[in-house]
Amino acid sequence: MENIRKYIPVSQPLLDDSEKQHVLAALNNGAISGLYGDALEQFETGFSNYCNSRYGISTSSGTTALHLVLAALNIGTGDEVLISTYTNMATFFSALYQGATPIPIDSYSGTWNLDPSLIEEKITAKTRAIVVVHIFGHPVDMDPIMEIAEKYSLYVIEDCAQAHGAQYKGRKVGSIGDAGCFSFYANKIVTTGEGGMLVTSNKELADRARSLKSLAFGTGNKFMHKEVGYNYRMSNLQAAVGCSQLNKIDLIIERKREIAGQYRTLLYDIPQIMLPIEKPGNKNVYWMYHIVHREACDITAQTVMNKLRDNGIETRPGFIPFNMQEIFIKEGMAHASDCPVANHLAANSYYLPSGPELTDNEVVYITNIYRRIFKNQAAS
Ligand SMILES: *Cc1c(COP(=O)(O)O)cnc(C)c1O
Repeated sequence: MENIRKYIPVSQPLLDDSEKQHVLAALNNGAISGLYGDALEQFETGFSNYCNSRYGISTSSGTTALHLVLAALNIGTGDEVLISTYTNMATFFSALYQGATPIPIDSYSGTWNLDPSLIEEKITAKTRAIVVVHIFGHPVDMDPIMEIAEKYSLYVIEDCAQAHGAQYKGRKVGSIGDAGCFSFYANKIVTTGEGGMLVTSNKELADRARSLKSLAFGTGNKFMHKEVGYNYRMSNLQAAVGCSQLNKIDLIIERKREIAGQYRTLLYDIPQIMLPIEKPGNKNVYWMYHIVHREACDITAQTVMNKLRDNGIETRPGFIPFNMQEIFIKEGMAHASDCPVANHLAANSYYLPSGPELTDNEVVYITNIYRRIFKNQAAS
């Protein structure tokens, strides 16, 4: 078959002449830092508009966007933050940078997002915020989260690092809670190489975050600082790449949804696995095509990943949840048994190639190999 690479990576960014032209324009203007340049403002405005949020504050990464919002909300020592356990550990690290205590919340079977029914029992007098993660691009069930947050006066922060453009009941993720944090790392839905953005419609929060992200420079004399700030600035060169990517975002999402549809058509009848879903009222952007082996599956996830690798197909294992991280168990901050659903995911899931550059023929090739692995297993 044509168009099949010898080695198919999980995802590659869609870069072409448009990115080059944007970056070249920034270079020609000498606008290379994070303090100066049109691309920064254009990207912040463009992306926050895309999210239906009033303000966009670009950052150096998704991790720094998450830390910035917690710092701007004064969440710190003595405070507890409820966080979806099944995530990139950056979500948890951001709370730890602030000296706050992260409390892991287990996942919900099907979407693998945090289970809203487990939240209320974890709330104490110290709880300040809930950090939800729209994992692999499927929106969290936000209505019950917002209801609980209202009842207990908690902030809601959306980690949207995997979910640019995803929608919950017609609303873009990132615009539902108090703030949304995005990553533009190379393998995210759109990229600036490294980078991130905090979006919010709360002016006070936006102003404080914008100040904190750039060393909290003074307003009269710049060098009389307002408080202890950070340098979490995105550069104008990165923002230039972002402006170009923003022109393609809907195309990329459309392609990812097509790929997911194709995978489903070709894999739906394998009873031992669970495929990504899209619950009614949601728009999943399928950041990665994440497959979970059922309890009864008689082939290990590792075996499948090894066999795919032998056929030139890259996969990545599921995340290791907070409660399974050795560094936290050793400190007594986490207990392996806390989140059984997420623990199952860590040992029994992986994601298949699902980048926007993937061709239809490659999906057919991957699923043929995949089906053969399961068929041989059933026969043996
Ligand atoms: C990628 C990611 C992050 C971190 O973003 P970086 O830009 O790599 O710092 C945080 N949370 C989730 C869910 C992610 O997928």
